[in-house]
Amino acid sequence: MDEINFVKSDNKDENLKSAIIIIDLIQDFSPIELNPNAPLPVNQLTLKKRTQINHFIQWCSENQIVIVFIRDCHFPEQFHNSIEIPHALFETQGRDFMKWLFLPEKYIEFEKYGYNALQNVEFQKFLMKNRFDIIGVFGTSTGVCVYQTWNSLRKFTNSCVYLLADGCTDMFPKRHEQTISKLKHFWPECIILFEDYKKIKKHSLK
Ligand SMILES: [Zn+2]
Repeated sequence: MDEINFVKSDNKDENLKSAIIIIDLIQDFSPIELNPNAPLPVNQLTLKKRTQINHFIQWCSENQIVIVFIRDCHFPEQFHNSIEIPHALFETQGRDFMKWLFLPEKYIEFEKYGYNALQNVEFQKFLMKNRFDIIGVFGTSTGVCVYQTWNSLRKFTNSCVYLLADGCTDMFPKRHEQTISKLKHFWPECIILFEDYKKIKKHSLK
């Protein structure tokens, strides 16, 4: 993958160009209480977490932050000879957004075919075109798709890429904890909370 060259946004008010990338908040990962048929339920997505996530998305939409949803899209063949449980199959309701999720008036979405969203060339092109100053990543699962997408964004873009810890969940709570501790150890400056992201954004407006 070619490295994306950093060009500062030419906004006259020096407003930082910001985006949030929200990963896999789709029916097949729904908490079991909301979707008893979910093949890979993320029960860590409690009512409290869901409310926090929706408030944050709402805040982002009110503050001109570009909102990007990434959704898994798989084909049954992908799961032949795989230990992975089939999920997010093309043209099934499993790919629908979770019902509780706040969808702002304006958002962009991309599909992903593996763990790392940057494998989608269209998503790469979108990032190259927009050259965000700051990017916040959250969603599910912390230890797999969120981590891998965050790590690729960090390596292949010149944006400041944050993992927004309070928006992350995993179907294995232990894997969530381990991933968060790993990040805090190796990239402490990259792991922040929703409130920190808001502060960074607000600071840029001064
Ligand atoms: Zn998947």
